[in-house]
Amino acid sequence: MYILVINSGSSSLKYQLLDMETRNPLAKGLVERIGMPGSVLTHLPVGRDKEILAGEIPDHTVAIQLVLASLVQPKYGVIKDLKQIEAVGHRVVHGGEKFAQSALVTGEVMKAIEECIELAPLHNPPNIAGIKACQKLMPGIPQVAVFDTAFHQTMPQYAYVYGLPYEMYEKYKIRKYGFHGTSHKYVSQRASVLLQKPLEELKLISCHLGNGSSITAIRGGKSLETSMGFTPLAGLIMGTRSGDLDPAIVSYVMRKENMNFDQINDFLNKRSGVRGISGVSSDFRDIERAAEQGNSRAQLALDIFTHDVKKYIGAYAAVLDGVDAVIFTAGLGENSAEMRETICERLDYLGIRIDPAKNKVRGEEVDISAGGTRCQVLVIPTNEELMIALDTQELARG
Ligand code: AMP
Repeated sequence: MYILVINSGSSSLKYQLLDMETRNPLAKGLVERIGMPGSVLTHLPVGRDKEILAGEIPDHTVAIQLVLASLVQPKYGVIKDLKQIEAVGHRVVHGGEKFAQSALVTGEVMKAIEECIELAPLHNPPNIAGIKACQKLMPGIPQVAVFDTAFHQTMPQYAYVYGLPYEMYEKYKIRKYGFHGTSHKYVSQRASVLLQKPLEELKLISCHLGNGSSITAIRGGKSLETSMGFTPLAGLIMGTRSGDLDPAIVSYVMRKENMNFDQINDFLNKRSGVRGISGVSSDFRDIERAAEQGNSRAQLALDIFTHDVKKYIGAYAAVLDGVDAVIFTAGLGENSAEMRETICERLDYLGIRIDPAKNKVRGEEVDISAGGTRCQVLVIPTNEELMIALDTQELARG
């Protein structure tokens, strides 16, 4: 049987159809510019040529209708009948405090996801639109919601309550939630397999370093602390997001630059981070290239990023009372050997040392630590779609 995974954004929608026997995707694709002129669906049947379909795609229901039609299309489809799809797994960004696990979608679950819109006004509405479209187009097929925040619900209260009057937490649920949970969960499970040790016995620091980045301290398979916060803006400096700041800077910049709330939000989320510092790009490859050519602000952006990651590794080693393995994942963590090397420099005192020859990998599951070290350093490509599909299958089968 097959599981369809849907990651529905405001104007785009990514999908994968996975064969759960091999755990590999049969097809994947992307719908772009939903509700705008120039909508397009790029459908990739794995191992064959991609198919690009242009046409009017006014909403998520039409987008999913086209995706489903592509999956069964005689020429570039991958299955004969939509009935072969056992269940659909949906990535949902915010589950608030209501969801510590993935959930089979019921009326009550839908209501609870809707109540989390306030916490993620840009993300939860399109996630909900994706679920509703599938319910309409595939009646009777189980829908499962998999939350980015769920994995971090194990954090102790002292790690998630902010230094604000406690009523802010009680009244508005202002607290640290953490994100990228599906990725941190997946790589921690893979680390247990690679290290051949039960997850319950492991202390792990998972570094999800991509355009958005977060680091999580994981003990016994549970998130103890994570770098993102109430929103994904917190923690490390990122591609375009500022990461942690002195909160007083926000009102100061608003006053100085005459910005309103929307403008300061846009400034912190889209114009800051390594893009804002380098003035080059939010893409780390462009920044690495510019730094090699002597651009000092690009080099500064890279230095700030690696310094930030190192700080979190040190902090989380303290939170975990030691560390068995550091995991690198996501675009940058999986691919940039230079970045991994710089981050791990002078961390011998934590038992962290990488082997430069083993570190010359890209997108493979490998232990890159030098032999005989106390702490292993692992490169593990993340696979959020597979994690979503596995949770979906489990819940759909009850
Ligand atoms: P993600 O958000 O996980 O897709 O990661 C995207 C980020 O990974 C971008 O900033 C890319 O520049 C970065 N990235 C991908 N491949 C490489 C690479 N080979 N070297 C450096 N950065 C990379």
